[in-house]
Amino acid sequence: MTSLKMPSVLVESPNTVYDGDFIEANYRYTSNRVTQKDGIFQVKPVEENIKIRTGRKLNKLGVMLVGWGGNNGSTLTAAIEAHKHKVTWNTKRGLKKPDWFGSLTQSSTVNIGYDSTDGSPVYVPFKDVLPTVDPEEILVDGWDISSADLNQAVRRAAVLDVNLQDKLEPFLKDFQPRPSVYKEKFIAQNQRERADNVLPGSDASMVDRLRADIREMKRRSDLVVVVWTANTESLCPVLQGVHDTADNLLRAIQEGHADISPSVLFAVAAILEKCPFINGSPQNTFVPGVTELAAREGSWIAGDDFKTGQTRMKSVLVDFLVGCGIKPVAIASYNHLGNNDGRNLHSKPQFEAKRVSKTNVIDDIVVSNSILYQPGEKVDHTVVIEYLPYLGDSKRAMDEYTSEIMMGGLNTIVLHNVCEDSLLAAPVILDLVVLVELASRIAFQTQHSSPDWLPFTSELGVLSYMFKAPVVPQGGNIVNALSKQRACIINLMRACIGLPPEHHIDLESKVH
Ligand code: NAD
Repeated sequence: MTSLKMPSVLVESPNTVYDGDFIEANYRYTSNRVTQKDGIFQVKPVEENIKIRTGRKLNKLGVMLVGWGGNNGSTLTAAIEAHKHKVTWNTKRGLKKPDWFGSLTQSSTVNIGYDSTDGSPVYVPFKDVLPTVDPEEILVDGWDISSADLNQAVRRAAVLDVNLQDKLEPFLKDFQPRPSVYKEKFIAQNQRERADNVLPGSDASMVDRLRADIREMKRRSDLVVVVWTANTESLCPVLQGVHDTADNLLRAIQEGHADISPSVLFAVAAILEKCPFINGSPQNTFVPGVTELAAREGSWIAGDDFKTGQTRMKSVLVDFLVGCGIKPVAIASYNHLGNNDGRNLHSKPQFEAKRVSKTNVIDDIVVSNSILYQPGEKVDHTVVIEYLPYLGDSKRAMDEYTSEIMMGGLNTIVLHNVCEDSLLAAPVILDLVVLVELASRIAFQTQHSSPDWLPFTSELGVLSYMFKAPVVPQGGNIVNALSKQRACIINLMRACIGLPPEHHIDLESKVH
């Protein structure tokens, strides 16, 4: 553990205690139970007193990226190094210095109340509400099927300004991705030419090797988080006797079953090493055997598929429209891009995994409004991805939203979004690892669990904000709307310091 960080926000309340290594909050958790009888909704508010304890000592955080030499992995590493070494670089728009724009934890703020003198709202950096890891303190390591070092990887990705690439070369050239698991069956054939850094041997021996890699990283850090930011795999068939239970999965790995994907092998290795595993791509890595294994081992998993650009916008826009009482009926989403992700997604089985996670993102919003949508009614929704090499990482997302408005009217909104894909993804990956580290220090004592302290469930649904297809515990509610996902994280952080949820009523300026 690294040093104890002095809190930047100190709550003065008998319900919040700063006690040595912990912040402990007595929190009144309220919700409503609803029954429907004779067309009437009967609502019963319920409340429970719980204790929330947050460790104040930060873990030395080690992050291991699968696909380290890809556009996301190399951009994230470059940004961390640029911050660590205070690198500045010249561009045609002047001298630039590193920032984390696009990061919820590093570049957004949270309202914590109203100024005691003039009543104006007071905002603090998100990262200061609770003690969180400083990105500059993060150690990065990882695997890639391509042997390019991180200097070469950054240049190949062509995401960052060339002056910045040059300045980062001394800090990146010694980062060498570890050899990885390569199975032709799961990623596009067009990736074959980059696969010059692959592990030999059986699935079982590869899991052993990955575990040894993770253990090596553990010696340099207190908490190792493994993140899949490698290519999207094809969906794997979920076979009875193979993927359905933890024991069957472990046996199938020992027997070298052909339908075990590389991402499943990484997830199993991370889980067995009790390290959180994050899946940033859309494939179904979290087959039932993996989720059962995670629960059994007390390891955390989070996924699926980083929510960064078009889909993030969709989960805002559709929520906004439906919240206004407007009915989206048809959505067409076109993408074209020229990076290696686009090249891989050009192949049908990999595209199919992406199509599914990109279209499910409005489901919870549609079912929330029974005035606009009948049970089972779907929005007519299509997603297209084309590969246009010239554009590199500069992704174009063009969306058309057609909605029914009043008295038979139609409203069509067209969006055209252009930006480097990896500059949106890198800060999201940073947020994920910072928040997983924070989550690892939070525990709950409920009336039922007392005196035991309960950690978060193994599926970290609290991180839904960062995923297109959030994985939640069985029977849990999947939330896609971005504003609700953000409110969840912020209100949970407020709860950790004994503050009630942000309600925005601001009665002080509405009633005298
Ligand atoms: P990329 O193709 O540039 O990088 C992927 C890297 O993974 C490559 O270097 C490749 O060699 C490596 N790789 C492939 N299989 C591997 C394996 N089995 N083990 C280790 N390395 C392996 O892609 P990217 O743009 O960095 O995106 C990475 C993933 O993130 C993709 O699946 C993409 O769909 C997903 N994603 C990206 C975004 C975004 O905004 N950039 C958003 C959501 C999801």
